[in-house]
Amino acid sequence: MLIFHHIKDLRQFLLNKRSVHSQIGFVPTMGALHQGHLSLIEQSRMQTDLTVCSIFVNPAQFNDPKDFEKYPVTLDRDIQLLLSAGTDVLFLPDVQEMYPAESDYPSSYELGYTETVLEGAYRPGHFQGVCKVMHRLLKIVEADIVFMGQKDFQQCMVVQQLLSLTGIKTKLNIVPTLRETDGLAMSSRNMRLGDQDRQTAVSIYEALMQMKSQLQAGDVVQLKKAASDFLTAKGFKVDYAELANAHTLKLIDTWNGKDSIVALIAASLNDVRLIDNMMMTS
Ligand code: AMP
Repeated sequence: MLIFHHIKDLRQFLLNKRSVHSQIGFVPTMGALHQGHLSLIEQSRMQTDLTVCSIFVNPAQFNDPKDFEKYPVTLDRDIQLLLSAGTDVLFLPDVQEMYPAESDYPSSYELGYTETVLEGAYRPGHFQGVCKVMHRLLKIVEADIVFMGQKDFQQCMVVQQLLSLTGIKTKLNIVPTLRETDGLAMSSRNMRLGDQDRQTAVSIYEALMQMKSQLQAGDVVQLKKAASDFLTAKGFKVDYAELANAHTLKLIDTWNGKDSIVALIAASLNDVRLIDNMMMTS
């Protein structure tokens, strides 16, 4: 696995690769890797000829500076995991490399409704920060396919919007959420949970499953409230337990029995904020 710290070197390497018509796959991450990340690498290896992974803990997407400071960093372990997963290239820039004082990139992105709801409402500026880093990364790597997790459902929508706004030709491939055996969605944040909270954390998955099994056409307000109450009773601070149209992310209070909908939850246990989602319809 080749490791690049500088944009110029990575681009030169990829230019040579592209001249032999290789399909390039890209997996952007913030490190503290787990099997969920490795499932993206696996997909990239199956669908492309050369897999580039990036690790960059992006300060621009943390609305809470304390959250940024506490974000886990496990670089040596990450490198071993990426090696064993067969990753070809690791891009490991520092903040100065990604955000030099002078830049031609836009200072904001027109995301409209998407950044006003759910994560957008609870983490002001978060999706602008995601676009800030993803615009740069997508331009640097110029991949054929970028692989991202459904775990961050709204982020996938935002990146799809970014691709349309910028005209970047990279295709977005959304990979299903990998879960622990009890159902908890794998997340870098899980390693910050104490033993007791780790056991309680599975309730988010249980709440999603309950919503799925009880969903019926008509009023869904009670269903959302039941999920939220269930989590509150378990000791969570619930930001939201919502149902939304899976294509537009418009929140719904009634379901017509036909539209494709997704349940999304964000809730914290002792300041560890977890998010998860599940398609309610096939
Ligand atoms: P992060 O390092 O948390 O920014 O995540 C990097 C990428 O891995 C994003 O596209 C995430 O959606 C994806 N990801 C995180 N957790 C999982 C998971 N449990 N299953 C699949 N993909 C995931």
